[in-house]
Amino acid sequence: MNPVRVVVVGGGFAAVQFAKTLRSKLRASECDILLFSRENHMVFHPLLADVAGASINADAAAAPLRQMLPGVECRTERVQRIDLSSSEIEFDDGNGALTRLHYDHVVVACGAESNLGIIPGMTDHAFAFKVMRDAIELRQQIVRQMESAEAATDSNLRRWHLSFIIVGAGFSGVEVAGEINELVRSSTRFYRNFRKEDVIVSLVHSQDQILPEVAPKLREFARKKMEKAGITMLLNTRAVAATHEGVELNDGRMLTGATVVCTIGTAISPIVQALDVPKERGRIRTTPEMRIEGQTNAWAIGDCAYIINAFDNKPAAPTGQFAERQGRQAALNVVRILKAEPTQPFRFKALGQLCSIGGYQAVAEMLGVHISGFVAWLLWRGVYLFKLPTWSRRIKVGLDWSWDVLFPRDLSFLNTDTTQQATHAYYRPGDFIHRQGELARVFSIIEEGQVEVLQNSPTADTKVVAVLGQGDFFGEGALLGNRPHETSIRARSAVRLRQVGSALFSQIASSFTPFRELLVRAVTRGSGDFWRRLPISKAMLEGESIASFLDPLPAQLLTKETTFADAINALNESPTGTLLVLDEKQRLWGTLDRGDLYQIIARIAVTSAETRGDITHLKLSDLLIPNSIYVALEDSALVASAAMLDHAITWLPVVKSKADPRPVGLIRGEKISKRMIERMAQSQPPRAQVAS
Ligand SMILES: Cc1cc2nc3c(=O)[nH]c(=O)nc-3n(C[C@H](O)[C@H](O)[C@H](O)COP(=O)(O)OP(=O)(O)OC[C@H]3O[C@@H](n4cnc5c(N)ncnc54)[C@H](O)[C@@H]3O)c2cc1C
Repeated sequence: MNPVRVVVVGGGFAAVQFAKTLRSKLRASECDILLFSRENHMVFHPLLADVAGASINADAAAAPLRQMLPGVECRTERVQRIDLSSSEIEFDDGNGALTRLHYDHVVVACGAESNLGIIPGMTDHAFAFKVMRDAIELRQQIVRQMESAEAATDSNLRRWHLSFIIVGAGFSGVEVAGEINELVRSSTRFYRNFRKEDVIVSLVHSQDQILPEVAPKLREFARKKMEKAGITMLLNTRAVAATHEGVELNDGRMLTGATVVCTIGTAISPIVQALDVPKERGRIRTTPEMRIEGQTNAWAIGDCAYIINAFDNKPAAPTGQFAERQGRQAALNVVRILKAEPTQPFRFKALGQLCSIGGYQAVAEMLGVHISGFVAWLLWRGVYLFKLPTWSRRIKVGLDWSWDVLFPRDLSFLNTDTTQQATHAYYRPGDFIHRQGELARVFSIIEEGQVEVLQNSPTADTKVVAVLGQGDFFGEGALLGNRPHETSIRARSAVRLRQVGSALFSQIASSFTPFRELLVRAVTRGSGDFWRRLPISKAMLEGESIASFLDPLPAQLLTKETTFADAINALNESPTGTLLVLDEKQRLWGTLDRGDLYQIIARIAVTSAETRGDITHLKLSDLLIPNSIYVALEDSALVASAAMLDHAITWLPVVKSKADPRPVGLIRGEKISKRMIERMAQSQPPRAQVAS
């Protein structure tokens, strides 16, 4: 008889324990076990904070799966889909082809993913704290900030480099805050330009107490100890946005700091999202024995599963402790099924909680006993040393910890050159992206939102001279000319940018001729060059308000929900052929003119008839790109002219104000040119009459 094939998707606590237990119960001739995990190692999450704080090396907290699981076929291909109806998995074979594999039983144990997208700007500016790469990058960042602080001559900048903000004060937030605080403060003696007092570590938490999972007495102990160690607690406070400067709080304050760590926000893994099975807040619902509801040969365990614990009839907590026990018991249930024996429901009494808070201190709740301080810290280390999956890891971590007690923490870091990187950045309305006179560090492309270009002059105040929108770019002039920025750039709305570091930009610009030509053309493009040649018209338009050129709004306003068929009719009826599209709050969402119409048709024409379907019923929100460029009543006519010149367009929507983007009318280039010509004619001295 062929051996039964059991496929495990995942390589964490639950999957490893499942595969280990099953292998110990069934011989290879009875059962083939294939474990698919994206990484070839299991991450021991409780020690990630120690990796970030440089008290252990990264490899000590990651155990290679194939060495841990003899007799299990370990594969690193990413599983793309599980087809429950045909009992097959589909995975990427690494060469671009999808391979299908039949199973007799499948176990979904792919955990949860971090999701920084829940707070604007976090994805761009914060470190997640879930996988090994996060911990390694965070450690690099901490040491890099200390080096930058040492070099900074400005005291505010030095403080910014030495300010660390941790969002979320659950177990991982508290542990990582404690480790950062310990690493930075204990290392100040190796630097000459800053002291312990310059270091700021802030823990931002939405509730009134940290560590909501542990007993009130222990929480209070942890808070007091951490505050004494220099950590600032911002309780009952929420982070609402993250930017290059730091974190904006719900009370309007801006907490500045170069390093933001976000420990909140989880997302369901895409493979689980794609499964059409009963779910509870995204997690897969299982029967008490841990089979996926409605399935006979599919199981779900660990953080991706919603399992009721028969011990207290409550959903099992998403922790390593539970994931391991679920893995073991699910394996025993598979064995029972293969032997035609009755299965058993998942039942487990949690053993307790342990949390290290830094400075050789911890809090622990073990079998109902509360312990805190140094003894709890020793217990924490002892328990996790014992729980590490292999003896080689235990010895490695043990040696690292002993080293950490006797010697200072390691401050070496592999210098990753930020000028070689391409990153994302998020700015709130009003934030400066760069200021006039600063050295150029990045080339930026606007992915979302609008920015304004400002110019200082020795004789007058700073003035907005142009606006840029989605798809526009800036920074190329200063980078190509190797000179400081000639203008400042400020976010007009919430802005998301794609940024390319100066060294990477130079490489692309020098080796890729079409890109260089595009940039050179952009430097001498539209408004910049035009005003240089026509300074009189610039002076004239600066003093003209937009209101004096305002045309009324089109008679018909479209919405994002308007269908393509209705939009075509509206364009046909429009005398000017220009229409505005509003969102649900009546704010400007986009524009539509005949040119856009042709572009939409051209785009649709290249898609296959099957995907195209009946396009007349498609909504504008599916067809148009939002965030068109616009000007506000408070802008000058110069800004409107510059925007039209830069974008080679002849009209622009006008909104009430930058803060209130509800449209109030349109402005046309033609009207501005006419007024300019009239003014110029008036300013000319009358010509002398020529005698006939
Ligand atoms: C910083 C931190 C500290 C923690 N501290 C503790 C603690 O002290 N005590 C405690 O009990 N719990 C702790 N936890 C929680 C604990 O780590 C999780 O509950 C536990 O890891 C869940 O195990 P799991 O097997 O379900 O998922 P995970 O351990 O997350 O493993 C999921 C695996 O699936 C793989 N995978 C995902 N999708 C695919 C795919 N499509 N194809 C192939 N492979 C895939 C991933 O690569 C990963 O290896 C901590 C968590 C974090 C982040």
